[in-house]
Amino acid sequence: MSADSSLLPVIDLRSDTVTRPTPAMLAAMMAAPVGDDVYEEDPTVRRLEEAAAARFGLEAGLFCPSGTMTNQIAIKAHTEPLSEVICEQTAHVYLWEVGGIAFHSGASVALLAGNRGRLTAAQVEAAIRPENIHYPTTRLVSLENTHNRGGGSCYSWDDLVAISEVAKRHGLARHLDGARIFNALVATGQRSEDYGQVFDSISVCLSKGLGAPVGSVLLGSADFIKKTKRIRKVMGGGMRQAGYIAAAGLYALENNVARLADDHRRATRLAETLRQQPYVAEVLNPETNLVIFRLQDSQPAAEFLQGLEQQGIRASSFGPQWIRFVTHLDVDDAGLARVEEALQQVAQLV
Ligand SMILES: *Cc1c(COP(=O)(O)O)cnc(C)c1O
Repeated sequence: MSADSSLLPVIDLRSDTVTRPTPAMLAAMMAAPVGDDVYEEDPTVRRLEEAAAARFGLEAGLFCPSGTMTNQIAIKAHTEPLSEVICEQTAHVYLWEVGGIAFHSGASVALLAGNRGRLTAAQVEAAIRPENIHYPTTRLVSLENTHNRGGGSCYSWDDLVAISEVAKRHGLARHLDGARIFNALVATGQRSEDYGQVFDSISVCLSKGLGAPVGSVLLGSADFIKKTKRIRKVMGGGMRQAGYIAAAGLYALENNVARLADDHRRATRLAETLRQQPYVAEVLNPETNLVIFRLQDSQPAAEFLQGLEQQGIRASSFGPQWIRFVTHLDVDDAGLARVEEALQQVAQLV
């Protein structure tokens, strides 16, 4: 097996960001009508922003280069210095955006410990600061669905409604980091159109499971998006003939959503295979396309990853002894079979 594996394409399970555009997506990109989007003259960008907003029951959208940018712009628009954002302690907006909340917004964070990244309405309510000169002013609740560090976990609709009601009662804005919101929608059967009722802003990544090469879109009310457009400009995110990449996002919204169920099925199968391996101590039950698992202490993580690499399979370390596998558009059933075989081979090495 290892002798031949150099001839086989690499199976990259590090992230769902690694996908390459398909010929059909590239054709859609090449055919896109474009204009200067800083002058608001790019028809394809406008189509993408409008289509995404309509899908989530919101008025307007803002196309940006990355999900980090859409999240950080939203947080800046909802807060001001001396205010505070409530989020989970492993939230992407806090942990993996370079401390951007402090840098861009001068805001404080109230970090809560969730259940696989999910907060409850009671936790959120308890974290709201009372009026007191010593405290920052709580302004925003930021949730993540699916939750990345929680292993692709999904919120129930009831919990989203309950958190939204707490936020509204206390006058807080509600942001969703929906980098993988379509995975959550496909897994739970929730309706995207309802999300505009429980969030004031939503960030959606087009370059994760949806398979576009670049781009995220921030959604909200028309007034909110007008405000965020200036923030995008000061961050250097105003793009010109961006319709070429927006076309990939439109293509992804129209063609690559329902197939996420295949990624989820493959993630579940990988979790079952991992549970049978003697070197695996624990596997978080995959709810969507992320499989997070912990190796036995006797199995060094670096050696495990190297063993996989020798079989042409890439994965990422996710903390001491923790590994993450991500299924996506470029991993089919034949690829899955190769990963399963490699997991058995690695077992023989350890
Ligand atoms: C990937 C991701 C983002 C955005 O990442 P970019 O690489 O900046 O596009 C935001 N939130 C979550 C939960 C993510 O997984």
